[in-house]
Amino acid sequence: MTLLELRDVAVTYRSAAGDVPAVRGVSLALAEGEALGVAGESGSGKSTLAMSLLRLLPRDTLVSGEILLDGEDVLTMSWGRLRAVRWASASLVFQGAQHALNPVRGIGDQIAEPLRVHGMATGAAARRRTAELLEQVGLPAWRARGYPHELSGGQRQRVMIAMALACSPRLIVADEPTTALDVMIQAQVLSLIRSLVAEHGIGLVMISHDLSVLAATCDRLAVMYAGRVVESGPSHEVFGDARHPYGRALAEAFPTVGDPASRMAPRGLGGDPPDPAHLPAGCSFHPRCPVSLVSCASEPVELWPVDRAEGRTEAAHTAACVHVRVDREAR
Ligand code: ADP
Ligand code: MG
Repeated sequence: MTLLELRDVAVTYRSAAGDVPAVRGVSLALAEGEALGVAGESGSGKSTLAMSLLRLLPRDTLVSGEILLDGEDVLTMSWGRLRAVRWASASLVFQGAQHALNPVRGIGDQIAEPLRVHGMATGAAARRRTAELLEQVGLPAWRARGYPHELSGGQRQRVMIAMALACSPRLIVADEPTTALDVMIQAQVLSLIRSLVAEHGIGLVMISHDLSVLAATCDRLAVMYAGRVVESGPSHEVFGDARHPYGRALAEAFPTVGDPASRMAPRGLGGDPPDPAHLPAGCSFHPRCPVSLVSCASEPVELWPVDRAEGRTEAAHTAACVHVRVDREAR
């Protein structure tokens, strides 16, 4: 069953300096119980895409396309319906979320908040559910009586995950959920998210700039560049045998999970990502591309299927690079 389907989603921010097309025609699908990783450098549009899934963007932002959650378009839902869907059907664990906890409110109260707001449990039932959630994220139930400052960063992030799980959502969107944590804790939190998702059959969209983190936790990967998906396919293929030069550069930049050296100086990636308000013509990656052709500066690219000897059609691997098209034509 398809849980989430994005059809040609585009997001443009309005700003005093002009329009910023941050996401430009993204189509993706996620099945129940599946984990999809979205990778890309800072500024590639990952958080914008994540926020569009729950319509959390600034009011005047232009959003087009379709975002189907269980077949229902999030973009045309009434505000009332949208409120019900947030948390209850889909919830978001965002970047630096551990700083979003209220310092003067008890942890148990904060975890129970979504339960209360959605009328799912109050009083003793809410306390029981809170204890169960804390246990699921590997924290003792007595932590409910404590306050955020008594917890480490990793533990606070676990509390945020417990909150995201509170209403038993069908989809969790995790935007750089571990980026602020140190390497060991990162691995623990990631494996926690992965196992919770697998156990409960929840769909997961996990966002990171680190391709190795995603490859270790997700079934499929989508690589974003300048607001577009430029490569997508099964994790091991995109990570181990990327066909877009940008996907390759990302895989080389993050060879092992949380490697601190590669974080500091991503190898193989010269230059900076383009400003979305001033995108280069043709393939947006061409000014940084080590294998670009003259035509790349003017001819548009699209996601072409990558040829595989096995002739497999399922969970196709696609890449928006002219070399993929040329290779196909040469066969
Ligand atoms: P990522 O999460 O991949 O780092 P973002 O989605 O945060 O990327 O940003 C994509 C682009 O949109 C960036 O160029 C960023 O500067 C721009 N952007 C993000 N938020 C806003 C906003 N509220 N108004 C205008 N531009 C924005
Ligand atoms: Mg981001």
